[in-house]
Amino acid sequence: MVDVPFVDLAAAHAEVEEEVLAGFRRVLAATAFVQGPDVDAFEREYAAFAGAAHCVGVANGTDALELALRALGAGPGSEVVLPANTFVATAEAVVRTGARPVLVDAEPEHLLMDPAAAAKAVGPATAAIVPVHLYGRLAPAAPFLELGPPVLEDAAQSQGARIAGEGLFGAIAATSFYPGKNLGAYGDAGAVVTGSAELARTVRLLRDHGSERKYRHEIIGFNSRLDTLQAVVLRAKLRRLAAWNGLRRAAAARYAELLDGVPGLTLPAPAGEEHVWHLYVVRVTGRDRDEVAGRLAGLGVRCGVHYPVPVHMQPAFRYLGHGPGDFPVAAAAAGEILSLPMFPQITAAQQERVAAALRKILG
Ligand SMILES: *Cc1c(COP(=O)(O)O)cnc(C)c1O
Repeated sequence: MVDVPFVDLAAAHAEVEEEVLAGFRRVLAATAFVQGPDVDAFEREYAAFAGAAHCVGVANGTDALELALRALGAGPGSEVVLPANTFVATAEAVVRTGARPVLVDAEPEHLLMDPAAAAKAVGPATAAIVPVHLYGRLAPAAPFLELGPPVLEDAAQSQGARIAGEGLFGAIAATSFYPGKNLGAYGDAGAVVTGSAELARTVRLLRDHGSERKYRHEIIGFNSRLDTLQAVVLRAKLRRLAAWNGLRRAAAARYAELLDGVPGLTLPAPAGEEHVWHLYVVRVTGRDRDEVAGRLAGLGVRCGVHYPVPVHMQPAFRYLGHGPGDFPVAAAAAGEILSLPMFPQITAAQQERVAAALRKILG
């Protein structure tokens, strides 16, 4: 029997193949490889999807974070507050602006940035607060907005997510279209969305050598444009994203039923209509998580861990001077979390195999 994959990008591609190939032919025929109508159209379409006035396509999600931070004024001498429990790129983007990352712990229920801890970390040098909408669940708006400094949302895992009917809430948000994300390109891509015309203009300048008009360079920028062929892929997939997010929700509900009562397994807290389940993350307690993951792989079930080492324990961030006990919630979670196979096209039979394997190992 073939393994249950962690994600199945081929299944998604099969749904958009005709449109993508037709779009590639159109771009190749026009030899419009940089910028052009597909990038403009995707930016309009994604802004509408995200409920924001402006979308600026960039080369990847890490650049999206960095350019958004720079637009907010982060740089040498300033600080940026972000969670210890995130993909390293969130912290890397802060460092690349010259600002100092100020890490805070997670709250234990959803493992999102703890607002009370963030409040303590905010100071006079804070240029931005960066809640990360981890696993597809939005962090709550009010507790971060009321802290004062501008909020940059790391929305790489939360495309289409809402909370109490509301979507993105910060001054600006950054997202990634890395292939495995809910909206995934066929290579690297990312975007910044914002309601502010001024922030959007700054990001537009930054992504293209500080220039809006050819050979006039207003500021020092980067080459971080959204690739035109990726824009073609993203336009085709964006048309399906709401439906695909719905399928993820159905799959999450099915896991909740299938995995009910498995000993030593804590399921993610149930969520309403608004979670987009980029990842379905369970916690393994009383057993070695890596051993469980290894045995699952032996039974043909491929899982992931997001993320096994929190930012403060990464060698690259040793200079911040943190010890392992500084962020106990994030550190404890890192040893227990396990991401089960999750993608829109996952079948009931595949999920039943995941559940049967978990019961066999843990039951
Ligand atoms: C994927 C991801 C990023 C980085 O995106 P890239 O496109 O890979 O640069 C940043 N933050 C989070 C939370 C992510 O999941």
